[in-house]
Amino acid sequence: MAAEVSIDGVRAQAFEIPTDKPEADGTIAWNSTTLVLVEVSGGGETGLGYTYSGTSILELISGRLASVVKGKDAFSPQAAWLAMQRSVRNLGREGLAATAISAVDAAIHDLKARLLGLPLFKMLGSYRDSVPIYGSGGFTTYSDRELETQLGSWVERDGCSLVKMKVGSQPEKDIERVKVAKQAIGDRATLFVDANGAYRVQQALQFADEFSRQGIGWFEEPVSSDDLAGLRATRQRAPAGMEVAAGEYAYTVDYVRGMLEAQAVDVQQADVTRCGGVTAFLQIAALCEAFHTDLSGHCAPALHLHVACASPRLRHLEWFHDHVRIEHMLFDGAPVARDGEIRPDPWRPGNGLRFKHRDAARYAV
Ligand SMILES: [Mg+2]
Repeated sequence: MAAEVSIDGVRAQAFEIPTDKPEADGTIAWNSTTLVLVEVSGGGETGLGYTYSGTSILELISGRLASVVKGKDAFSPQAAWLAMQRSVRNLGREGLAATAISAVDAAIHDLKARLLGLPLFKMLGSYRDSVPIYGSGGFTTYSDRELETQLGSWVERDGCSLVKMKVGSQPEKDIERVKVAKQAIGDRATLFVDANGAYRVQQALQFADEFSRQGIGWFEEPVSSDDLAGLRATRQRAPAGMEVAAGEYAYTVDYVRGMLEAQAVDVQQADVTRCGGVTAFLQIAALCEAFHTDLSGHCAPALHLHVACASPRLRHLEWFHDHVRIEHMLFDGAPVARDGEIRPDPWRPGNGLRFKHRDAARYAV
């Protein structure tokens, strides 16, 4: 085998997939989700990565990022990652640029593993061969019946012992909605809540007391993630046993370091489709190890699966309704939940995914 394989192509395409029902969390509402697929080729193989982002990154990927990645060695995704990070310095590394880099980096890792004929989790080196998941959705637009049905299906169909619902868009309804959710899952599963930054600190503390009485031990983004002092205050003053989690908007490793140094969270979250891809997710995993803080993967479970196996303090992945639905529609090889876990297929090289271009064509932007 050649010691070096030049990357010779980078392609990006966007797809907008309508949700199955109107969806909202504590701070925004949406009716569709945009998936940007990246395919990177070299040595006669193609690797794929993706991000849930906006169509505006297409030009960045096929222009600037492609120009710095082409000719780089597919066996050293880190060198391509560094070149991409440098190339966006004057654009701003965060936000859209980070999502673009994430998708390209994931595709290069996939390409490398396929060239080596190894599943990605084996190529990265793994701590485990399966990953716990928690069902996630419970949108604030759902009726009580819809909430009950969705939460119940994760417990019954997917074997989840952890499920999460959204709160915060109408705070006056939150206690009652949580009661409905608790009744639907009974004592078969533990309920998490995610406010997506909707509450103020004092309000969050009141809710922390109420939620704690309702048996909830996970309070995600009780206040804005931009308010590290507020997160820390909530964390320190919340009832014993209530964990505060945040980190889904981490676009750089520095952001995670800041969050950990501020002691803002009990569990750090990160998203491989936003933080800078597999390369950055592993750097974040090492930071979490150093800070003795568990890490939880945010959304896009099919793309997190392999890197989650390679992250030491990985607690679980978010089995997010929207993304699970899209990944099953558009990717052959998307993981299927069993007994509250997903596991990579050791017989499929790379990330194990194949994009169904024909099925996806009708969503092309
Ligand atoms: Mg969240």
